[in-house]
Amino acid sequence: MPNAALSNLAAIDAAHHLHPFSDMGKLNASGTKVISRAEGVHIFDSNGKQYLDAFAGLWCVNVGYGRKSIADAAYAQMQELPYYNLFFGTTTPPSTLLAQKIASKTGPSLNHVFFTNSGSEASDTWFRMARVYWKALGKEEKTIVIARKNGYHGSTVAGASLGGMKWMHEQGNLPIPGVVHINQPYWYAEGGDLSPEDYGIKIARELEDKILELGEDKVAAFVAEPIQGAGGVIVPPSTYWPEIKRICDKYEILLVSDEVICGFGRLGSWFGHQHYGFDPDLAPIAKGLSSGYLPIGGVLVSDRVAKVMKEEVGDFYHGYTYSGHPVCAAAALENIRIIEEEGLVERVRDDIGPYLHTALQSLAGHECVGEAVSVGLMGAVQLTADKATRRRYAKPDDIGTLVRNHCVENGVILRATGDRMLFSPPLIISRSEVDQAVETLGRALDWLRDNHREG
Ligand SMILES: *Cc1c(COP(=O)(O)O)cnc(C)c1O
Repeated sequence: MPNAALSNLAAIDAAHHLHPFSDMGKLNASGTKVISRAEGVHIFDSNGKQYLDAFAGLWCVNVGYGRKSIADAAYAQMQELPYYNLFFGTTTPPSTLLAQKIASKTGPSLNHVFFTNSGSEASDTWFRMARVYWKALGKEEKTIVIARKNGYHGSTVAGASLGGMKWMHEQGNLPIPGVVHINQPYWYAEGGDLSPEDYGIKIARELEDKILELGEDKVAAFVAEPIQGAGGVIVPPSTYWPEIKRICDKYEILLVSDEVICGFGRLGSWFGHQHYGFDPDLAPIAKGLSSGYLPIGGVLVSDRVAKVMKEEVGDFYHGYTYSGHPVCAAAALENIRIIEEEGLVERVRDDIGPYLHTALQSLAGHECVGEAVSVGLMGAVQLTADKATRRRYAKPDDIGTLVRNHCVENGVILRATGDRMLFSPPLIISRSEVDQAVETLGRALDWLRDNHREG
């Protein structure tokens, strides 16, 4: 589109367009930024300004922008068969082949896929499936799902209920009945004097306490992200996941691993459950499945659950018009082919992930930094007003936004969740681009130190 047409867009946007997760009054006053083009790890706004996108859109553009082969695969599929449904005993070649391809990458017992159009729909899907599973086994009372404070599982009614964000619950009278929350393993902010390892065990045992309080015969599932994403890249202590796994096994609770961010290479493994060495019963996916080129998500379903769905449930009255949409599935297949061909999972694990880790550690000594953590290409820098006591700034959200804006003005897109600065770049990012992103954050931290002293 010519620049003249683009320059009008902000005004049109203010007049007609309501944005997700936005304060529309403020946004209309400040004006939206129009992103009109992208290539590799870079995006360009309508003024032609280039940014390094160290956040891969919204954690999703794993193979980077401008992949012609994905566009070609979608175009070819659209000409061959633009749409057909999966409801009445039919399938399409790309949706079936995609299910097979995904199953070949997961942990050993996740061999089935139920397709959705997004991560949120995947949350709604497994939520119903978990209850249907227990009902089919004659355990109708097993309906409660235990989730975590500050977790994120999407924006639909079930997704936002499962998520642990209070400010989301306050809009729309959530959570729905049957969803309860326990604490997150956020050692830096909530660990007090405990070592991270002891804290990991303590927080995991909250799951056991909650199961005992509710009654094992009432609890259907526990859901968590392997590493909490939108909540601030909360990397759990090493003791956390083994203890969670032990508890779910002991009480026969379905373990749901929300892989929407951690899947498809982000952690240097195909899926987050592989990185942490556990085998979930259900696992929602989306984002990196198509690298965001087209909307598609799904739920990975274990043999244990699939067997009951096949042998006991009969009709599962659930699905979406566009479940397994052939064009989206064709794009996802090509996306996965690229990840395989270019060895991006191994690259993250052995090369660029460790490189980002080292680069972030160079900021760990900064007086405004509490901790710098990363696994693969998912990282966070925690801001602090006092390094020694791990004290937070009085207004953490405002401080995080200031630092983020400083980075954006200097050409690097990061995200702030509260006072944590988040990295989630495309898996193709080069070493010099990692340096650029981390150095830009470093300069923003110097600016913060020089301009925002607190006590
Ligand atoms: C983004 C996200 C979702 C929701 O996915 P949408 O495609 O935005 O609906 C669910 N879970 C996690 C962990 C996510 O990061």
